[in-house]
Amino acid sequence: MTQLEAARAGNITKEMEEVAHSEGKTPEDIMRHLAAGRLVIPNNINRKARLVGIGEGLRTKVNASIGTSPDIINVDDEIDKALAAEEAGADVLMELSTGGDLDAIRKKVLSASNLSIGSVPLYQAFKEAIDRYKDPNKLTDDLLFDVIERQLADGISFMAVHCSINRLTIERLHRQGYRHGGLVSRGGAYMVGWMEANGRENPLYEHFDRVVELMKKYDAVLSLGNGLRAGAIHDSLDRAQVQELLISCELAEIGQDMGCQMMCEGPGHLPLEDIEANVKLQKRMSNGAPFYVLGPLTTDVAAGYDHISAAIGAAEAARYGADLICYVTPAEHLALPNKEDVIEGVRAARVATHAGDLVKLKNTGRDLAMAHARRDLDWDAQFKNSLFPERAEEIRASRSPEKPETCTMCGSFCSLDNVNDYFKESLKAGKKEKGVCL
Ligand code: SF4
Repeated sequence: MTQLEAARAGNITKEMEEVAHSEGKTPEDIMRHLAAGRLVIPNNINRKARLVGIGEGLRTKVNASIGTSPDIINVDDEIDKALAAEEAGADVLMELSTGGDLDAIRKKVLSASNLSIGSVPLYQAFKEAIDRYKDPNKLTDDLLFDVIERQLADGISFMAVHCSINRLTIERLHRQGYRHGGLVSRGGAYMVGWMEANGRENPLYEHFDRVVELMKKYDAVLSLGNGLRAGAIHDSLDRAQVQELLISCELAEIGQDMGCQMMCEGPGHLPLEDIEANVKLQKRMSNGAPFYVLGPLTTDVAAGYDHISAAIGAAEAARYGADLICYVTPAEHLALPNKEDVIEGVRAARVATHAGDLVKLKNTGRDLAMAHARRDLDWDAQFKNSLFPERAEEIRASRSPEKPETCTMCGSFCSLDNVNDYFKESLKAGKKEKGVCL
């Protein structure tokens, strides 16, 4: 029985209890949202991982993606990145290797990490078609489904599968004159090429029920991959993207009706003004299925700082209801990320999701505590409430002030140190604490 089937039968599983405990919710809350298809728990009956819930009422989660490329194959580095991502606060991990022995790499990452791990099976399927037949377009349905099952059997908990690309979505691409930024999803591009070369429907769409049954067998989450996501802000909300999103939402409902935990994936690159519409469209058309966005990057010209471009978009997306954010690293569009890039990417995404959750969940207590700590020049409390206490302490310690209450930014010009005394009595009256603001 899957988590969704259990929830719909009114059963609280130990997985639901674990998520409820970590989120400060009741197991009944988790069960209710799961049953409604608005919350998922990436899981796999073959692997014990630190479980998280993704969806309604919960903190927005951060995914970090790691994995080899055909050009850089160093498994130890990928394990280091996986562990660094976990240490930096990633909630889930995607193992997206495309170079080397993919089965062996996946097994090593799965055994090294405590996190729930996702994958994109099309990468391995097309790589094996190239290895066997020297041609990705010779990929067979059997090989494709064999790869999906192999990855699930190893313990993959959520899988981005590009089921929502079909002949209609490709027709939109042709009719609209392709795209400013081309196709940027690796799996999506290979699948579109395969469909065009073979003149066939996408087997993942055609045999969607087979995909769903495999996910159900392992209690994994089927995440409907965004193969035609916009890779340039000028392609945002174009007809091809909207067509794929519409099909994703339709499939999410069908998959849930079959008892499978479902999630939809979204862009990509979006100007700020399109983010709200993207999230609302997905939520409305899928009856609130969890939404996993990649970034979204809010400008195309920030190479080297794309983690910031994406964090701006992620904060907006989380604010309007996105449930899982895929981090972007400073190496985006430039190179395979190294360990430092991974850490920066996770941290930027955590700032973004926290900012979004302040609006979405109204959980502002930590920020209020920080405001008071800053006002009172209470440095211990400032570090305690910081998202990154070690980094904060390290910076302060590297430039010690003459007067320990202050910092070297202003020193004797410290505005708080100079004025707080005049407001001691007003502070005691406690009007702010009674809700004059926020
Ligand atoms: S010295 Fe300036 S920056 Fe530092 S705590 Fe005081 S007001 Fe803030």
